[in-house]
Amino acid sequence: MESAKQIIESYVGRKLRIMEVCGTHTHEIFRLGIRRILPPQIELISGPGCPVCVTPAGYIDEAVMLALEHGAVICTFGDLIRVPGSEMSLAGARSKGAAVKTVYSPLDAVDFARENPDKQVVFLAVGFETTVPAACLAVKKAAAEGLANFSILGANKTMPNAYKALKGSADAFLYPGHVNAITGTAVCEDLVKLGVSGVVAGFTADEILTALAVIVKLSASGEPFFRNCYPRVVRPEGSPAALKLMDTVMEPCDAEWRGLGVIPMSGLKLRPAFAAHDARLKFSLPPVAGRSNPACRCGEVLQGKCKSTDCKLFGTACTPLHPVGACMVSNEGACSAYYQYGDILNEQ
Ligand code: SF4
Repeated sequence: MESAKQIIESYVGRKLRIMEVCGTHTHEIFRLGIRRILPPQIELISGPGCPVCVTPAGYIDEAVMLALEHGAVICTFGDLIRVPGSEMSLAGARSKGAAVKTVYSPLDAVDFARENPDKQVVFLAVGFETTVPAACLAVKKAAAEGLANFSILGANKTMPNAYKALKGSADAFLYPGHVNAITGTAVCEDLVKLGVSGVVAGFTADEILTALAVIVKLSASGEPFFRNCYPRVVRPEGSPAALKLMDTVMEPCDAEWRGLGVIPMSGLKLRPAFAAHDARLKFSLPPVAGRSNPACRCGEVLQGKCKSTDCKLFGTACTPLHPVGACMVSNEGACSAYYQYGDILNEQ
């Protein structure tokens, strides 16, 4: 029987464009050297599954405003600190005296708020279905404890409507297994009815190769398809407990994605019952229209319209040490993956 690797290597069919929705897949595919075995007919393109990358510049501006103008302590995962806003990043705000604290969990921010009742603490809630439950848990805990000094600045997003918005940009999606572990597989099965193909993939070399081989095999029929190639983690029903928690604390809303614009009902915001923990409401933040560097092509990279290396700033004006766009900052960003792992053998 042919191995997954052999199926991929021997592919000679029509051109196949496969979108790695998730930045972790992009990095793992590079790191594992999988690009080296791909025949020219298989092209891997990046997608919008890096939460830091799809967060628009205006969100960073809001966080900077909270820190510098309202004196809030910003608690965030490390990646966001160096993402450029319209005028400055949070690292820049920190150099002007802003309090910006790295945390490893939203619950760390709740603990900090409890220990510092004289400070307003804002957690930057950025992420997809994978990390939303933790943010919801933090809000629920703060509400239960009556921590009036804890709030979140929300930019949480959900994938289903983004997949629909990206319809036609690739022949098949490599769905992010950790997201499907929460959501289940019904959303992907529904996408088949809209003509969208894809497989759920895990993150080891064997799991990624298997997923790519399944795409190669199923694409031959020309019919839309879906398979769960990560069954050891992804159940059809997902995680009912996590879904229930999310539904208790948050509700769908329109959301702005860097490069994709506003996608209706692709975000999550706090339900009215938790409004006291919504930083935008608490600090009466005005609407902010952020500006990105016009030479940065993150928006196109995130839609698979160009590669990171097509950007004229790549590796020159824009490097991980001096990032111009979010895709070069994040550990899941496509530009950072190309910078770290891209070489003549890995490139296609
Ligand atoms: S290389 Fe830098 S400037 Fe170019 S698209 Fe990527 S992040 Fe933006």
